[in-house]
Amino acid sequence: MNLVLLGPPGAGKGTQGRRLVDDFRLDYIATGDMLREARANGSELGHKAKEYMDRGDLVPDDLIVAMIGERMADESTLDGVILDGFPRTAGQADALGKMLDERGERITAALLIEVPDEGVVERLSGRRICKKNSHDYHLVYDPPKHEGVCDQDGSRLIRRDDDEPETVRKRLSVYHEQTAPLVDYYDERGILRRFDGTRDKTEVHDHIRATLATLRLEERL
Ligand SMILES: [Zn+2]
Repeated sequence: MNLVLLGPPGAGKGTQGRRLVDDFRLDYIATGDMLREARANGSELGHKAKEYMDRGDLVPDDLIVAMIGERMADESTLDGVILDGFPRTAGQADALGKMLDERGERITAALLIEVPDEGVVERLSGRRICKKNSHDYHLVYDPPKHEGVCDQDGSRLIRRDDDEPETVRKRLSVYHEQTAPLVDYYDERGILRRFDGTRDKTEVHDHIRATLATLRLEERL
């Protein structure tokens, strides 16, 4: 099973992705985390990527496709993957299709978690992530037990540079321009599934899990 997560920034893709990893034993590939790691390690790729990310722009296709190609060569991907943050353009989607085709696989479903723009700005301005493992919190909707500290690993909670309100608005306009066409791309191929991201995250998770369980059954028939 190979899944693509789609939706605006702050729709809860990371939270849902991590839960699905536990449900279906998939390898979770989050481009944002990969880029932040690369940049923290001071790699050349990370340095290049940082320049784009800090402006709220998309990292160019060839850079990101090369990175994903390398990651998809891991044995851990053999049972299936959840991709979060990739593909972001139709060109990247084509590249992904080819990568999977070469190993006799395909995308099982593209999961679109929908949230209106005004909801996105509110969510992201209150979002905090932990320094160590990028665990997600929200000051209003999902606060940690102790202010400023991660419940799971005790590391400090910070606001990501790209969650600053001005950058969020830029990310949203980039999302609408370049990523929204991916919705049509996967819809035309009959594998798009839509979910209401304004619902409680456990409800969203239950809905996605039920949908995937059905897809799995259909595949076995
Ligand atoms: Zn944490």
